[in-house]
Amino acid sequence: MKIAILGAGAMGSLYGGFLAEGGNEVWLLDVWREHIDAINNNGLIIEGLSGHRIIKNIKATSNPFDIGIADLVIVFVKSTITDIVISQNLDIFDKNTIVLTLQNGLGNVEKINKLINKKNIIAGVTAHGATLISPGNIFHAGIGATNIGELNGGFSDRIRVISNIMNTAGLETTVSDNVIGLIWGKLLVNVGINALTAITKLKNGQLIDNAETEELLETAVNEAWNIVKAKGILLSYDNPIIYTKQVCKATAQNFSSMLQDITNCRKTEIDMINGAIVREGKKLGIETPVNITLTNLVKSIEKNY
Ligand code: NAD
Repeated sequence: MKIAILGAGAMGSLYGGFLAEGGNEVWLLDVWREHIDAINNNGLIIEGLSGHRIIKNIKATSNPFDIGIADLVIVFVKSTITDIVISQNLDIFDKNTIVLTLQNGLGNVEKINKLINKKNIIAGVTAHGATLISPGNIFHAGIGATNIGELNGGFSDRIRVISNIMNTAGLETTVSDNVIGLIWGKLLVNVGINALTAITKLKNGQLIDNAETEELLETAVNEAWNIVKAKGILLSYDNPIIYTKQVCKATAQNFSSMLQDITNCRKTEIDMINGAIVREGKKLGIETPVNITLTNLVKSIEKNY
């Protein structure tokens, strides 16, 4: 299968690397020149939990015309620019190209759908973690499952094919008939962890070692849970507050991606995480005071880089 990874940073390179190792034709598409050149000259270096290796059978480019039409496009840019990046690279899509988003945050499907027919879009969540070390070199920091699904909940042939390709490549993948529940389930965890760690500069595990941050985590997640209940969304776990605290424990030593963004003076995904809860709350008449506060604090930090 010809696979293009749109946004080949930490996660895009990780998935691209595995899928190339699985024998697929993989193209990494990114605007970061040094990264592209390093991969084309020396191969993609993956180190960390899945082992150190150099992947040579992978191509990288900034030019969609180098790729031509892809069978599958996996979107792994930050959710702030999903629609912009699709619009810049329309030349890799035709009427049969499937687009998969595994990004965090709310609204990626809608942004892709501004330019791509909804029937071509599938979505999911990933529990892998990765960070960039240097151009052409990434660190596999967390191993986890990938869950994907059709937006309408069906178990189609194409979703099984893509799941098989990922599993064959070593990315443990399951198909879900409730992809909206998966996206919201991941969102609620991010609502509890990301902004709070970004503001306090604490590691994930420290959030539940301090009574003050633990209370804020609980309240932020609870506000989001009220929205989930009002929308009738079924989550894949029972209690989002308990689940988020379990994730804090399991990833205790991690610096969240939003904390890394703040540390490196990059734009965060706050608008698609806590900001999305604020917007959804307004639509439904549900109060979200802690999420408003977290959103405004992160935006204030960003404005003053
Ligand atoms: P990243 O910043 O490492 O990678 C994003 C890449 O997009 C960069 O290489 C950047 O150069 C590229 N890019 C920016 N503008 C572009 C453009 N116009 N065209 C093409 N490429 C462009 O981000 P990441 O950590 O890989 O995260 C990607 C998504 O995955 C986010 O939604 C994030 O929340 C989610 N996610 C990340 C992790 C993780 O551990 N890093 C885990 C789960 C989900």
